[in-house]
Amino acid sequence: MKIPKRETSTCWNPILETLPLEKLRELQVGKFRRIVKWAYERSKFHRKLYQEAGLKPGDIRSYEDVAKVPKVEKAMMRDIQRKDPFPYGDALCVPLEEVTEFRQTSGTTGMPVYQPDTWQDWEWWSEAWSTILYAQGYRNTDRVFIPFGYNVFVAFWAGHYAAEKVGCEVIPGGVLDTEARILKIQELRATAMMATPTYVLGMADTAKKKLGIDPARDLAIRKITCAGEPGASIPSTKRRMEEAWGAKVYDHVGATEIGAWGFECTAQPGGLHVNEALFLTQLEDLETGEIIEEPGRKGKVVITALDRIAQPCIRFDSKDVTEWAESPCPCGRTFRLIKGGIAGRADDITKIKGVLLAPTAIEEVVRSIPGIANEFEVVVTKKGDLDDITLKIEIVPEAAGKRDPILAQLKDQLRLKTNLGYNIEVHPFQSLPRYEVKAKRFKDLRK
Ligand SMILES: [Zn+2]
Repeated sequence: MKIPKRETSTCWNPILETLPLEKLRELQVGKFRRIVKWAYERSKFHRKLYQEAGLKPGDIRSYEDVAKVPKVEKAMMRDIQRKDPFPYGDALCVPLEEVTEFRQTSGTTGMPVYQPDTWQDWEWWSEAWSTILYAQGYRNTDRVFIPFGYNVFVAFWAGHYAAEKVGCEVIPGGVLDTEARILKIQELRATAMMATPTYVLGMADTAKKKLGIDPARDLAIRKITCAGEPGASIPSTKRRMEEAWGAKVYDHVGATEIGAWGFECTAQPGGLHVNEALFLTQLEDLETGEIIEEPGRKGKVVITALDRIAQPCIRFDSKDVTEWAESPCPCGRTFRLIKGGIAGRADDITKIKGVLLAPTAIEEVVRSIPGIANEFEVVVTKKGDLDDITLKIEIVPEAAGKRDPILAQLKDQLRLKTNLGYNIEVHPFQSLPRYEVKAKRFKDLRK
């Protein structure tokens, strides 16, 4: 077998990323058995969970057996923490002395979950992120600026380490404010950066309005890696970011309690690769729980980090909803693609007036219409027995004269793409909430 070299390939790990499908499954099942056994023997939490389900690690023999292993939800992790070994509790699989990294989830959906990692886990994190960055064209010639408030959330910490591992020069843009970050990017001629879509758009606005800098013309950023929100996979939002920066914008998916499990490659096939060498990802039907293998059917991501050892992530119910894409990617990787990234959270994809709605569909429409500003908000309420949706938008000052045709186009497109009617409110420019990091633009007040 001819082994491709990294230097002549677009893959960080040319062997793993192009493994034939059956070899990949074999690798995944082998690693899955190993991590289940590891957790069964070391974590009180996992052993109890598996014993109650009548499952022993030896019962897993094939890919089909994976679904027999009970799922874990975030709330279950919360309940076992804040006790000895403090603060991680019953799912810690290594002596506390071996833990070198503390992170926690942001707690937007409840009390935060603590996440310990060993140094080996941290190497694994940067390996996963190196796969992402290399696939997005990061090389040792890049100078990467990270405009991120380094704190207890994992966010771009691993991206930082991976950029170093790939050989890039890394500038930590930690406590600087937005204007100082833009000036540093300009001064040092940084070529790449990582941020949430909301911040990427916000930075471009600040650059233009406050500093008179046009990022596409005056800055050298040509690659942007996004995380934290689905925007980089929503075509109209991606286009707005790419035009504002004159850069390629790539998506990635990950979570503190899982790892960095999916990435867009430079072929930009309209979806993200799942890193199947480091993760075992399955999609489950939202109603029946059946495992979905075919493209075009939406399901919930249930995922295992195959090599993470301090606090294992086995069959974790991520609540992220997506679907498999049709064809292999032109880049040559055999890792499967999820179409259009993450469509939303299972909790957000709710039935409104009996119609299944993903908030990302509204974002796609709003951002596809020139003249509508970047910020918007969706509020769902109940009027009597009926669901009522209000979409709040802003119109940019330059388009103020075109208000009526913009609203007409918006109403048409929304009906076409989401099959729903909306009350549309136009708010004064820059009056809707602005978000620094993760935006909360969808509010369901029916419950
Ligand atoms: Zn690809």
